[in-house]
Amino acid sequence: MKYISTRNAAHAVTGSEAILMGISPEGGLFVPESFPQLSLSDIESMGEMTYAERSATVMSRYLDEFSFEELLEIANRAYSRFDDEDTCPLTKIDEGMYVLELWHGPTYAFKDLALTVLPQLISACRTKRGEKDKTLVLVATSGDTGKAALEGFKDVPGTEIMVFYPDEGVAYMQKLQMITTGGDNTYVAGIKGNFDDAQTAVKSIFTDDSVRASLREAGYVMSSANSINWGRLLPQIAYYFSSYVDLLTSGEITLGDKINFVVPTGNFGDILAGYYAMRMGLPVGKLVCASNINNVLTDFFNSGEYDATREFHKTISPSMDILISSNLERLIFELCDRDDKALSAMMASLKKDGKYTVPLSLVRSKLGMFAAGYADEDETMETIYNTFDEYGYVVDPHTAVAVAVYNDYYMTSGDTAPSVILSTASPYKFAQDVYEAVGESQESDPFKAVKKLHFLSGMEVPEGIDKLETLEKRFTDVLPRDKIKQKVLARVKGE
Ligand SMILES: *Cc1c(COP(=O)(O)O)cnc(C)c1O
Repeated sequence: MKYISTRNAAHAVTGSEAILMGISPEGGLFVPESFPQLSLSDIESMGEMTYAERSATVMSRYLDEFSFEELLEIANRAYSRFDDEDTCPLTKIDEGMYVLELWHGPTYAFKDLALTVLPQLISACRTKRGEKDKTLVLVATSGDTGKAALEGFKDVPGTEIMVFYPDEGVAYMQKLQMITTGGDNTYVAGIKGNFDDAQTAVKSIFTDDSVRASLREAGYVMSSANSINWGRLLPQIAYYFSSYVDLLTSGEITLGDKINFVVPTGNFGDILAGYYAMRMGLPVGKLVCASNINNVLTDFFNSGEYDATREFHKTISPSMDILISSNLERLIFELCDRDDKALSAMMASLKKDGKYTVPLSLVRSKLGMFAAGYADEDETMETIYNTFDEYGYVVDPHTAVAVAVYNDYYMTSGDTAPSVILSTASPYKFAQDVYEAVGESQESDPFKAVKKLHFLSGMEVPEGIDKLETLEKRFTDVLPRDKIKQKVLARVKGE
């Protein structure tokens, strides 16, 4: 299996090259040359497997430089760090409505599903390719990727990791999780600006030839732990198959039935993995793209216009506060029938004017499996309250956006297919807002909010959240965004 760049389809690389490079030198994203197929009987046979085995089954279809056993060892090591034996348990909360909990990993957000795997893939790819240089991992984060990547790469030999987060754009617990990280190969800084500013600055470092050259000289190559990296996206495809198989084995559906997935979306990595699962043969009805009031994707699916030139809103679901959704590029590549020239022109227009347009008829005919909606802040808070009130189930604000959009979709479409809502974070990561919604009173101390939420819901508090209160704050830098490059160069030179 080869991988091609969305902006230069003639540039084909192997899976290990795609993972080590992260992004193609001309700025395109690597996509598989074709989608391997899993038949219904392949899917059925996953019923007997553990989550790690299901994951290795999916990954092995894409990474032919690895044996199934190698990938299984990686998946076993990754998912043994999860605090639930099902890795990502599926809970039925109403007739035809299921919640897939993707936050039982070390940092309590869905990013752990991929970021417990990626560092191991990078190490294994380095070995396979005889790479002598160290790998420098650069990350722009809207909150959850940063900590998950730090935990994944901490003290992994041959790697250094630098994480940049928008100083005023992440939740209290998210920031605290990052700046208290241990490890000698880690660095964290806030940047002045929002997530898009951080992501754009980091992406520009990747395509800067002079930086590449300086790094080579210092004995480093760059890679990315953002969802632009194929090694980040790939492990995410597995949980779409796994939740389908769980519905099958519990008798909720029969083999071949189509199901919907409702996905709280920011950078479009999570939901894209669902689209790829569908292209591999998973019976999917709709992929419902749920946004907060930064609803650029809702508008795109409903009008064909992608317009990032709009006011940026800071919300209580910060990991979705994104106006430039990087991974949409991979979907647009499919929409244009893999025409790299057409795609490059659209991305150039996005860079220059902040927008591009696709005929709505094309969106409807090619991307008809997508539905899209959004929830504003009040609806999100109300949904947290209602979900607890009706089902006794606590959701975090990101998941609440998805529940709200699902409710709207269900009411307006009349589509009664079984629907899996992807739950992307533990409510305790956003304890103040969640407590305010369910307890109907404010608590200004985040750790008191955790205790009160626990008292009210009886839901177990993750150990790593409890511990945060007493850990040393190691990283205090806040940089203007034009200083990121300097910081990166200084780090590799050991300054
Ligand atoms: C990252 C994140 C999202 C958005 O996922 P994308 O892959 O960026 O679309 C949603 N919820 C939470 C809690 C996240 O951390």
